[in-house]
Amino acid sequence: MYEDKTLICKECGNEFVFTAGEQEFYAEKGFVNEPQRCKACRDARKKRRQRRKRVVHCHLRSLRWRSKGSFPTP
Ligand SMILES: [Zn+2]
Repeated sequence: MYEDKTLICKECGNEFVFTAGEQEFYAEKGFVNEPQRCKACRDARKKRRQRRKRVVHCHLRSLRWRSKGSFPTP
C-alpha cells in the first residue's frame, strides 16, 4: 500500500506531500519518477506553457495575415 510522502520541490524548495492517491495514480500511469515540483509550481509551469502557446498562435496568425498582401502566392 501507498503512504503519503513528503518531497522537496525542485523549483521553490518547499516541502509538498505526494499523497498515497497520487502515488497510486502515478503507478497506474506507469510513471517511474516522483514529482519534482509542488502543485503550485506545476500549475505555474502549465500556465506559462499555455501562455507561450497562445503567443505563438498569435504570431503565426499575424504572419499569415501579413503574407496575404505582401507575398505573391505561387
Ligand atoms: Zn514549488
